[in-house]
Amino acid sequence: MILILESSATDDQVQHVVDRVEVLGFKAHLSRGTFRTIIGIIGDEQKLSAEPLSAIPGVASVVPVLPPYKLASRDAHPEPSIVDVSGVKIGGGHLGMIAGPCSVEDSDRMYRIAEKVRASGANLFRGGAYKPRTSPYAFQGMGEDGLKLLRDVGEKFGMPVVTEVTDPRLVGLVGEYADMLQVGARNMQNFALLTEVGKSQRPVLLKRGMSATITDLLMCAEYILSQGNMNVVLCERGIKSFDPATRNLFDVAAVPLVHQLSHLPIIVDPSHATGRPDLIPACAMAGLAAGADGVHVEVHDCPEEAKSDGPQALLPEQYDELASQLKQLAAVLNKTISPLPETLA
Ligand code: PEP
Ligand code: MN
Repeated sequence: MILILESSATDDQVQHVVDRVEVLGFKAHLSRGTFRTIIGIIGDEQKLSAEPLSAIPGVASVVPVLPPYKLASRDAHPEPSIVDVSGVKIGGGHLGMIAGPCSVEDSDRMYRIAEKVRASGANLFRGGAYKPRTSPYAFQGMGEDGLKLLRDVGEKFGMPVVTEVTDPRLVGLVGEYADMLQVGARNMQNFALLTEVGKSQRPVLLKRGMSATITDLLMCAEYILSQGNMNVVLCERGIKSFDPATRNLFDVAAVPLVHQLSHLPIIVDPSHATGRPDLIPACAMAGLAAGADGVHVEVHDCPEEAKSDGPQALLPEQYDELASQLKQLAAVLNKTISPLPETLA
């Protein structure tokens, strides 16, 4: 951490800053220039970040040297992390292909969709049993019956399953059925939920909040990692923008940027990012080309009857075409789509 002092800072103020730094248990390294004095603070920067250093009289600005997250940073772990979701690897050249309807719905439909996306090459099946909806009157999900159905479908087709957990009190229950716990965009900063999924040891799919910066996203991952759960996969799913032409704004640059800053895998979700089936294939390909460790797509066999997010669903045949393009691109990029596990744990 570096403190830059005001040009008008008096000798007494400079001494007071040094004393304050030392009282906090750090060493201060004073450097007087012609116009400005700067103070380098030596010690564990993360411990200092909560201190109101800019409130000390004479301090003009506080410049951190390290990012505020530690366990999520590349410095802590130079090699890319590989997250194993019941046998399906994500990261380090292994691609996760998550597909399925937005919500868990009636049984026949779930089996039909899963069979199709599996045949196309998806290796993780998704569906929400607890849905975070903007309207309290909209379909809220099937709850535990949905979890059971999702699990049965996953077992029938040998696919690990991903589903959202919306409440810290449900982490235990959802973790009994799901191979991977999704923390949705609206809950990215639900710190009680992050702490609970951090304790659960189940792999976590952490979606970027719609108004979250990259630092916010990595700090939320840090909450999970700091509980001892290192199995975190990030997801870029679009951020708010001024333009209603797409549901959100697909921030493809987040992918290579997160890879620079962190060892955690990051996948893309062009379904929620664009909200438009006509744009999903191009954005999925762009995400993969930018280095994403997987692609998450919502698929439904009758979008007009979908309980949620029907307008953005790809039909199974559209997903099939996209999956074959993604496979070709993966080969060019020297990445492999993780095979399905031989047996589901
Ligand atoms: C979802 O995956 O269906 C979902 C609600 O996603 P997000 O949290 O990204 O909106
Ligand atoms: Mn959805």
